[in-house]
Amino acid sequence: MVNSLFVFMRICFMQPSCLIGLVLVAASLQALAEAPNIVFITVDTTRADRMDFLGSKRGLTPNLDIVAQQGVVFERAYSQAPLTPVSHATIFTGTYPQFHTVTDFGHPLPALLPYVPEILQKSGYHTAAFIGSLILDPKASMAPGFDRGFDYFNAGFRPKQSPNESRYDTVERRAGDVVRNATTWLDKNRKTPFFVWIHLYDPHAPYDPPPPFDTKFKDLYDGEVAYADASLGKLFSYLRQQGLYERSLIVLMSDHGESLGAHGEAMHGIFLYDETIHVPLLFKLPGELLAGRRVTSRVRLIDVAPTLLGMLSLPLPPTFQGESLVPVMKGGTKISASDLPAYAETDYPHRAFGWSSLRSLRSGKYLAIRAPKPELYDETQDKADQRNLAASSPAVTSTLLAQLNEMRDKTASYHGGTEKASLTSDQTANLAALGYAGGSASASADPLQGADPKDKIEISNVLHEGMIAVEDGRYTEAIPLLQHVLNDSPAITVAQGQLGIALARVKRYPEAIVALQKAVQLLPDSVESQYELGLALFETGKWRESTPYFEFVAKKRPKWPDAQYSLASVYARTQHVPEAVDLLHGVLELNPEHFRANLLLGRILTLEHLPDQAMPYLQKAVEVAPENFEAHAFLGDAYEQAGNELAAKGERARSESLKAGSNQ
Ligand SMILES: [Zn+2]
Repeated sequence: MVNSLFVFMRICFMQPSCLIGLVLVAASLQALAEAPNIVFITVDTTRADRMDFLGSKRGLTPNLDIVAQQGVVFERAYSQAPLTPVSHATIFTGTYPQFHTVTDFGHPLPALLPYVPEILQKSGYHTAAFIGSLILDPKASMAPGFDRGFDYFNAGFRPKQSPNESRYDTVERRAGDVVRNATTWLDKNRKTPFFVWIHLYDPHAPYDPPPPFDTKFKDLYDGEVAYADASLGKLFSYLRQQGLYERSLIVLMSDHGESLGAHGEAMHGIFLYDETIHVPLLFKLPGELLAGRRVTSRVRLIDVAPTLLGMLSLPLPPTFQGESLVPVMKGGTKISASDLPAYAETDYPHRAFGWSSLRSLRSGKYLAIRAPKPELYDETQDKADQRNLAASSPAVTSTLLAQLNEMRDKTASYHGGTEKASLTSDQTANLAALGYAGGSASASADPLQGADPKDKIEISNVLHEGMIAVEDGRYTEAIPLLQHVLNDSPAITVAQGQLGIALARVKRYPEAIVALQKAVQLLPDSVESQYELGLALFETGKWRESTPYFEFVAKKRPKWPDAQYSLASVYARTQHVPEAVDLLHGVLELNPEHFRANLLLGRILTLEHLPDQAMPYLQKAVEVAPENFEAHAFLGDAYEQAGNELAAKGERARSESLKAGSNQ
């Protein structure tokens, strides 16, 4: 039961100064209906300095600015990790990455760790999530456990299967569509109170806003931020029209920012400077309570969960490691006088590249970074973190790093450190589709060993660029980029695999085979690399050599028609015709419209002098691909065997004219 929820809201409509304290008093008297609806928005990859309500002059966020005026703005909020699943796990569990252990993509959220959506669901909330990217899709094996506590979880992403598919139908969903999914659900689900999580992915690379946001601003990243804001504007209008806005609690933040070239980093994930760690954070309370408040003390995303539950007067789980910001929001308490120390870390340089992980602590006026070459910045003098004082202020540096180590040790998981979980090949392929590296074979056991990411940042940028180029089908561009990465770091698995794919797509098969063989060596269970290696061998006529790779993939992917077809195709060419026929029947059970399976099965049956059995498959092939000359020719042969000369002549004539047309 949400019994005590937001009593204070009703009381405080009349007396805005009271806040929270009264909640407990009247708690048990209140009915469920008193609880506020919660609209919880995470806008991915959004820098604090792009928000007009945080001082930007770019004019990107007119809709958020209105909400900010009606709510409480945190001017200095810091993320605990520059990666989507890691940061979202912190936001929703109120614990540090070293505690929740979701320190990389695809790590499961521990089932017993208290999780805000589930706490709200158990308290009587109707819960729904609307997700903008594959990266947070539990069903696509990327964020297992993140759907815990949701009555409805709208995701449904998958990797792109060909360059012709739009990324917005596969790996990502535009803000407008995410918001529409949410409002459609709200239209049909009028039960209150509700907790709706809306995740917008648009500001994440590639920067590709729809018109007019693609031309309206100086750079495309800004266009994405403005587009996300405009889409949220539609959400807020909807809530107003439905009479839901006023009494809703709206919480908005970004999971992390984007470097955009600062410190040499193109995107995010490697470094812990302000560009990726300083994030927007605002709460709009029901009835515009505390409207216009601005909190200038340093706070953290780890504080969001205790703040939210604190406002609802729900008990805080003992696992929470942040602090409720309610006293700070009210102003004048001990916390508002001083900043909270803000810890952040990233394992991505270690896991994806085999370099050292980074850890940081913002304390007092300083940012200290634990790296092979330590860093210290005075953020009051040097907002851009440009002048490393570690060498000139060794005492401050070592004191802060000692604090950092102590603080991390104290807050690490009681399960005894992070488990060494490696990515599956599916997860690696999904990550590649989003431009992230995964599954390096070269990482040593100690995450603080390895090269300093400061010395290697260019390699990670080039890798991301190369992977996005492969994803977009720009293979010729991708090849030299990936080769550059591999010259520096030959053990980055994903670079080998992606290079092999790019080479194969431009028909440089012998080189593709070498690259894909290395990728398979580095990550033997990679379905994608084994499949691509099979295809490249097949294309060069090495059918027998390709067989074990196709057999591996077909076994691993029994429901993937193309994998089954590829194996059938190689069996048909290597005197295993009965096995091929069995597989082709299986393919057509999975997908009766599979053109090549119909064509091959019809052809095999024709060659076995079974024209009546062949005919339906070849007719289907012609129906599915009427412009394919081979299909008409094969159908002509089957007609001839069956004694239908006239039909045979017609199909052959059609085949000849299509062939002539295609040769022009
Ligand atoms: Zn993110």
